[in-house]
Amino acid sequence: MNAIKYELIKVCKQSGARLGKLHTPHGTIDTPVFMPVGTQATIKSMTPEELKQMDAKIILSNTYHLYLRPGHHLVEKAGGLHKFMNWDRAILTDSGGFQVFSLGDLRKITEEGVTFRSHLDGSKHFLSPEKVMEIENALGADIIMSFDECTPYPADYNYTKNSMERTLRWAERGKNAHKKTDVQALFGIVQGGMYKDLRYESAMRTQEIDFPGYSIGGLSVGESKEMMRDILEHTAPLLPTDKPRYLMGVGSPDDLIDGVIRGIDMFDCVLPTRIARNGTAMTSQGKVVVRNANYAESFEPLDSHCNCYTCQNYSRAYIRHLVKTNEILGARLITTHNLHFLINLMKQIREAIAEDRLLDFRKEFFESYGYQL
Ligand SMILES: [Zn+2]
Repeated sequence: MNAIKYELIKVCKQSGARLGKLHTPHGTIDTPVFMPVGTQATIKSMTPEELKQMDAKIILSNTYHLYLRPGHHLVEKAGGLHKFMNWDRAILTDSGGFQVFSLGDLRKITEEGVTFRSHLDGSKHFLSPEKVMEIENALGADIIMSFDECTPYPADYNYTKNSMERTLRWAERGKNAHKKTDVQALFGIVQGGMYKDLRYESAMRTQEIDFPGYSIGGLSVGESKEMMRDILEHTAPLLPTDKPRYLMGVGSPDDLIDGVIRGIDMFDCVLPTRIARNGTAMTSQGKVVVRNANYAESFEPLDSHCNCYTCQNYSRAYIRHLVKTNEILGARLITTHNLHFLINLMKQIREAIAEDRLLDFRKEFFESYGYQL
């Protein structure tokens, strides 16, 4: 018995995008969906109640960070991640692979796993597919990822092939070590860098191992948007239609729309929360860097088309003042708006799929947002 079930509701006749429902042990999620990222078991500065008010149905947390602090045994002792952080809706944990390879110092990769030093205190650690399953089983998220290497960009063909092959072997080991298949769904991750034949091989062989859902990793890692869309367009249709498809680490508004059009159901990204803390809002008219002097006397909301708490009650001038004086409320108000903006964008995308007009919606959105078509 799988922990999750994906239900394909319909395919947009205009764009080919998928409308679906993802049933999890902690509620049903309408897809396509954007998942806010709570690295340290918190979406920075937001309470779970606030996230529910903006209709977040699933959030992501990071295995690597929680393993280092406070430790997965402590989270397990607290009753699991849902209880520990007071979030009773769905959670997804990543594999830690991306952070081990990007943050871990002096890492050494062998067939067995990766030895690295913590970016926090230099302490030595070892993560293997089995260890990552132990950690993710203890954290208890509804959806968990198998340990992979996110192939860096650029990487030559041989490196990418060897890395992809190892990720496949690790996926099989992770699946064998997964102890809670009835309440946690383990996703396989398709790698293969920017090489279409490797993407094909990875997609096919990951499916042979057989997972309840599939992720596409190793995109949005420094390549051009054209290249990303080309690889995505090649890879997504290789995945089964009756399982959810998750594009990891992608979350700018244009990438969300273009990812959905290429058949993706799930996205996550730190972008909306990270830029909020730097004083930048995503709006229907494009980015607003509220810190800029030209907003000093702007008594308009961040986005006049937005009905979030921030836009109903506060002006750009006030938020700019908070950001300039490093007041916590400034980051909170922009985070509230940015998450609401992306969650609402996904809702508009789902409505457009239901009405077979996603390409029309894309054109309208991009004209307003200021992207070239
Ligand atoms: Zn707003």
